[in-house]
Amino acid sequence: MPTTYDAIVIGSGISGGWAAKELCDQGLKTLVLERGRNVVHNKDYPTANMRSWEFPHRGEMPRAFVDENPLITQAAGFGEDTAHFFIKDKDHPYQQEKPFEWIRGYQVGGKSLIWGRACPRWSPNEFLSPARDGYGIEWPISYAEIAPWYSHVEIFSGICGNRDGLEAMPDGEYLPPFEFNCPEKDLQKKISAHYKDRYMIQGRWAQLTEAREIHLRQGRGQCQARDLCMRGCPFGGYFSSVSSTLPWAQRTGNLTIQPFSVVHSILYDDKKGKAIGVKVIDANTHHETDYFARVIFMNASALNSNLILLNSISSRFPNGFGNDNGLLGKYVCFQNYRGSVGGSIEGYEDKYYYGRRTAECMMANFRNLGKNDMDFVGGYMAFMGCYRERGTEPPVDGAIGAAYKEAMSEAGPWKMYMYMQGETVPKETNHVRLSTDKKDQWGIPLLVTSVDYDNNDEKLLQDFLTQSSEMLDKCGVKDLHTYDNHWAPGRDIHEMGGCRMGKDPRTSLLNKWNQFHQCKNVFVTDGACMTSTGNQSPSILYMALTARAATHAVEEMKKGNL
Ligand SMILES: Cc1cc2nc3c(=O)[nH]c(=O)nc-3n(C[C@H](O)[C@H](O)[C@H](O)COP(=O)(O)OP(=O)(O)OC[C@H]3O[C@@H](n4cnc5c(N)ncnc54)[C@H](O)[C@@H]3O)c2cc1C
Ligand code: SF4
Repeated sequence: MPTTYDAIVIGSGISGGWAAKELCDQGLKTLVLERGRNVVHNKDYPTANMRSWEFPHRGEMPRAFVDENPLITQAAGFGEDTAHFFIKDKDHPYQQEKPFEWIRGYQVGGKSLIWGRACPRWSPNEFLSPARDGYGIEWPISYAEIAPWYSHVEIFSGICGNRDGLEAMPDGEYLPPFEFNCPEKDLQKKISAHYKDRYMIQGRWAQLTEAREIHLRQGRGQCQARDLCMRGCPFGGYFSSVSSTLPWAQRTGNLTIQPFSVVHSILYDDKKGKAIGVKVIDANTHHETDYFARVIFMNASALNSNLILLNSISSRFPNGFGNDNGLLGKYVCFQNYRGSVGGSIEGYEDKYYYGRRTAECMMANFRNLGKNDMDFVGGYMAFMGCYRERGTEPPVDGAIGAAYKEAMSEAGPWKMYMYMQGETVPKETNHVRLSTDKKDQWGIPLLVTSVDYDNNDEKLLQDFLTQSSEMLDKCGVKDLHTYDNHWAPGRDIHEMGGCRMGKDPRTSLLNKWNQFHQCKNVFVTDGACMTSTGNQSPSILYMALTARAATHAVEEMKKGNL
């Protein structure tokens, strides 16, 4: 096995898959280092075609497993059918100085196998508002600069959605959207009639509602609306690194994927004044090997990239890689998922829908657009939808036996739900650092998380709860109830920051091309690079930033600058 390559990519998830694809497409011999096991499209989806009654515990995990893994079993989508794509708590400890639920999937494909797949674009406002409204530093790039890269990754990945012409959620290169069901169609009309600034739209989702030439070339086919995606999709109907970017990169002949390779740190050469490679520990044998390359892409996911960088100590960087300003690990932020609203919808008893749509409807942000006119900063978007329950209302007595079975064979009442995804403020106090006394089984210091909500999050949450319940009440939704789930940060699975982009090396770690200000041949293009969180689901932006940075890296290498 050679140890020298043109490029090394650390991590094979959503962003690492994109780095691999772009670097290999552009001719670089690329090594992808992945700490987890290999996962091959189709071959390693053991539950993909199982029926619910074929699972020994009907989809639930046994009590002993839940007791041993109290954190990961709470993750969205975790169950008997998907557990093999999530870590086990006890294998991967970390220290929570304040409650923080760190959700991880360690395997080739990372969390791309189990993500929810919502893919809206950021609005120009989200890039501008942190500096404009005084709650963050200036982004070094604008929406206009990243827009062509959004298009690039949307076309290849296959994102469905409608073109709605909204400023708060710009249109992309979309495949046909999923359809609204009947109550959703009416709800959309009612919301538009009551509010000039609120739009309920069909979800923008990484789902092939139509398989185009570029997707067929990846070996992927049309989504069948089964909503079993998180088990791995035999059709390649949703985007994952395993079904899309990694096999594509492999076909160039330039890719080497090495599973079971835990990256310990980046190697820096004082004389050359640049990074020369990475130190890897074999996950099984604990044997150490150094690998070398001209450029290194950090794609281990936001907090793992922070961990590796903090652990990359050299005489040039005694406080962590590129960390001259002491800000590495700071300004960690996340998205606020605490609020939800639900209710009943009267009528439509003669209506139903076909299949299990995997996309949810969305409501674009309508707060602090263009200027800060609320008593909080940042905005929120929401996911929403209407669905039909099974059984009668109220449920038949006893919830067991023939009468219950009979009732469950009937379509029940219509319900609707809505939940928020809110921006949070990047703060120096919200940080991660290395434990000074505890190490993992590979001798790497444990990560300490010190991340919390603040008063801005509480105000934003209250605004969502008040506004959404008022709005749905006006639109005729009955039996409304609001709910604050009081989740700890982290359960949102949109953690970001710690190694942020910016214009000024005194206040940021990375430049506008995701390169370290202090070491240009190391790029960070996962969530660690985020200057602020915005209110949209972030992964499609990580893909766009990665593709842009990889292309820049190749151009700079050709010019002899790297
Ligand atoms: C249930 C769920 C629902 C989600 N829904 C959405 C959604 O709807 N929309 C959205 O935008 N995002 C969503 N996300 C978040 C999304 O999955 C992440 O933003 C995305 O996967 C991040 O990509 P990444 O490449 O940074 O990390 P990952 O995809 O996690 O990949 C990182 C990889 O690096 C590997 N790695 C880590 N440390 C090391 C190391 N030291 N050495 C070697 N390899 C290492 C890991 O094993 C992993 O394979 C969801 C996540 C989950 C779990
Ligand atoms: S819903 Fe579509 S993408 Fe999901 S598993 Fe089914 S066919 Fe695959």
